[in-house]
Amino acid sequence: MTHFKEAEPCWHCGHPAEHSLFCHYCDSLQRPTTDYYRFLGIDPKLTIDSRSLEKRFYDLSRLLHPDRYTRKGSTERQFSLEATAILNDAYRVLRDPVSRAEYVLRQSGFQTEEPRAKNVDPDLLEEVFELNMALEELRTGDDSARPQLEEARRRFLGLRNEADGQLAGLFGRYDEDRSREALEQIRKVLDRRKYIHNLVTEVEKALAA
Ligand SMILES: [Zn+2]
Repeated sequence: MTHFKEAEPCWHCGHPAEHSLFCHYCDSLQRPTTDYYRFLGIDPKLTIDSRSLEKRFYDLSRLLHPDRYTRKGSTERQFSLEATAILNDAYRVLRDPVSRAEYVLRQSGFQTEEPRAKNVDPDLLEEVFELNMALEELRTGDDSARPQLEEARRRFLGLRNEADGQLAGLFGRYDEDRSREALEQIRKVLDRRKYIHNLVTEVEKALAA
């Protein structure tokens, strides 16, 4: 994970800040870290309890709200704005299992931008070939392709659920062994899931038209 830097002393009173958002001595807001897990003060795990994450988000939203800092100095006012922006990003990214896994992969030095087709099995590619023909028929006004597309939609939704189940299992494994191998497996499943997800979106768009 990220390199753990020596904590800076409190900007206000000079006491050691211990990587906390607030100084334990004078309670002033510190320069916020951009590491989402450290910012939220939670263990850097892939398996996250969504209720406690949500509670943490609302608690910190209240503590960091810029309205609380209108009478403070410019340093804390600025920190509260930065902290609120990081808080919103951290919550948006970590609450969703897929974006959470992508975040941890990026933090661990993986590239996650482009899904690579090599992680998609040939059977699926064949199905996609047939799917594209059915999509083309529907686009040209041939409604007889509709049942086939509805069937394809069900099937791809099933595959996406399957990928979600695999991810949950791999998250547990990574949380236990912190291995790079677990992260590599996760990346493969994420690539496959993204590919399937795009198919679902495409079919749903065609059926709704
Ligand atoms: Zn202090």
